[in-house]
Amino acid sequence: MLGQMMHRPLCTTTILSHARTAFPAARIISRGQDKSVSHFDFGQLSGRVAQLANWLVAQAIGVGDRVATLAWNDHRHLELYYAIAGIGAVCHTVNPRLPVDNIAYIIEHAEDRLLFVDPGFLPLLPDILAKVKNPPEIVLLSELAGSAAARQAIAAHDLGTYETLIQDQPEAFDWPEFDENTACGICYTSGTTGNPKGVLYSHRSTVLHAMQVAISFSSILREGQRVLSLVPLFHVNAWGLPYTCALVGASPVFAGPHLDGESLFELMQAEQVNSVWGVPTVLTSLLQEIDKRGCLPAGFDNILVGGSAVSASFIEAYEKLGISVNHAWGMTEMNPIGTQGSIAPEMQQLPRAELTRLKLRQGRKIFGIEMKLVDQAGQEIAQDGRQSGELLVRSNTTAAQYFKNPQATAEAFDAEGWFRTGDIANIDATGNLLITDRAKDLIKSGGEWISSLELENIILSHAAIADCAVVAAAHEKWDERPLIVAVPKRNPADYSAADKDALFAELLDLLRQNLPKWQLPDGLVLLDQLPLTATGKISKIKLREQFHTYFSKAE
Ligand code: ADP
Repeated sequence: MLGQMMHRPLCTTTILSHARTAFPAARIISRGQDKSVSHFDFGQLSGRVAQLANWLVAQAIGVGDRVATLAWNDHRHLELYYAIAGIGAVCHTVNPRLPVDNIAYIIEHAEDRLLFVDPGFLPLLPDILAKVKNPPEIVLLSELAGSAAARQAIAAHDLGTYETLIQDQPEAFDWPEFDENTACGICYTSGTTGNPKGVLYSHRSTVLHAMQVAISFSSILREGQRVLSLVPLFHVNAWGLPYTCALVGASPVFAGPHLDGESLFELMQAEQVNSVWGVPTVLTSLLQEIDKRGCLPAGFDNILVGGSAVSASFIEAYEKLGISVNHAWGMTEMNPIGTQGSIAPEMQQLPRAELTRLKLRQGRKIFGIEMKLVDQAGQEIAQDGRQSGELLVRSNTTAAQYFKNPQATAEAFDAEGWFRTGDIANIDATGNLLITDRAKDLIKSGGEWISSLELENIILSHAAIADCAVVAAAHEKWDERPLIVAVPKRNPADYSAADKDALFAELLDLLRQNLPKWQLPDGLVLLDQLPLTATGKISKIKLREQFHTYFSKAE
C-alpha cells in the first residue's frame, strides 16, 4: 500500500525561497577583488538571481544546458549556482587551479555553452579556448583595471560584463517546476591520474545533502552564525554551504581572491565570523596569522576541517586558542560530505589527549550514508576498529555513474552497486571512521602495506617540523620503502648534513614508540615547501615522481 502524501520536487530554488521568507536577518557577505565588502539579504539575492535567470533564458539557455564558472568565492558565484540550476540548466564549476589542458578537457567534455569568468583568470582563457572544439561564449564577472588587453584577446567570444547584462532584467522569475532528478550541477574530480571525471549532481541529491549536513553540523551551522567558506565554490559545491546556510539561516561569508592569512584575519575581524570551513593548508595559514598577531579575530569560535587528513598538532594548536575543531570527510562523488567528527556527549569528559585522538578520526556517517569495508579480494570485513580495508559507500547523495565515462563507471562500483572510495579505513564499534590512507598512496614493503597518514601524524608532532608527507620510493629488496619529505620550521638550507641526520634520528625515535620497526621510514628529505594539488592538498603523486629513485641513488 502506498502512502497518501503529496509529492513536491526537491529543487534548489525551494531552498532560496525558504531563506528569503524565513531568515530576513541573514546576510550574504562578499568581498570583491578591490577588498570592498557587500552585504545582501536573501531577498536581495533572490532578486539578482531572478535577473540572471531572465538573462540566461533570453540567451536560449534551457533545461540540461551546461553553463560554466571560473570564479572565486563571491556573491555572483552564488547567484550563478541558484540561477543556472533554477532554470533547469547545469552549473559547471571549473577549478581554475587545474592545469590548462585539464580545464580545456572538462569544458569540452561538459560541452559548456557559456563561461562566467573572474577577470583575474582572463589571461588563462586564450590558451584554454584554443584547445576547445566549440568554445563557450564568455561573460566577465566584473571589470578589473589593466585587464583590457587580456579581454581583447577573447573579443570573439565576449558577451559582456555581468552587471551590465543583468541590470535591466526583471527581479522576478517564474521558476519552472521539474523532476527532482534533473541535474543541477557538475563537478570534475581533480584527475590526479588520467582525465578528470565528471559527477553530475541532481536537485534531489543536493537538497537531501543540504538537509543531512544541516542536521549533522547543527552545533556550528545554525541561524545567526556567520560562516566563512574557505572551501571554494569552484570545487564540490563548497561542501554544500551555498545551500546549507540558506536552509538554516546562517550567513555565508565569501573572501574573494584574497586568501592569505592577513586578508582572512581582517575579513573575519570586520565581519565577526564565527565559523571557518576549509582544508588544513588554508586553515594553517590562518593559524600562523593568529600566532603572529597574538589574538583571535572577534567572534571566532570554531572551524570545520576536511578534504585531507589533519594532524594532532593542528587540532591542539586551534583548541589551545579556544577554537573548537570539527572534522569532516567526503569526496566529489558524495555531494560531497560523508561523515562528521563531533564528539558524542558521553565522550566529552575524556582527557584532552584522548579527545584529540578521537578528533583525528573522520567521524560518524551523516544520516543517509551506508558504509562497508572490504579486503583486497572484495570480501566484507568487520567494523571492529582494528581491521583496515577499502571503504565503499552507498546513499542518495552518492554518484551512480560518471558523466559520459562508462570505463571509469565500470571500475568504480562493486557488483552490488556500492561506490569504491579508494580510501583505506577502519571503523570502530561506535561507527567512527578512520582513514588510514588513499589506496594509491599505500606503501608496499616486502608484501606488507604501510599507511602513510599515521607516520605523518607522529612526525608532525615533532617541534621542528612544519609539514610533511611520507611517500613510497622504489627499493631493490623490499619493492618500496617509506621516505619522509618534510618542511622544517627552520630554513632547510640552514641544516648541515649532521643536523639533518640528528633530526632523522629523533623522528625515528618518536616513530619507534608507536610503530613496528619495519614501518619506520628509510630516509628524510627536507624541502622549503611541499607541492599542492589543485584542491590545496599535498600532491603525493608529484613527490613520488620526484623521489622515486631516492633509495637506488643513495645506494
Ligand atoms: P580532490 O582530490 O579532487 O580534492 P575530493 O575532494 O573528491 O577530490 O577528494 C576526496 C578525497 O580526499 C577522499 O577520498 C579522501 O582521500 C580525502 N579526504 C577528504 N576528507 C578527508 C579527511 N577528513 N581526512 C583524510 N582524507 C580526506
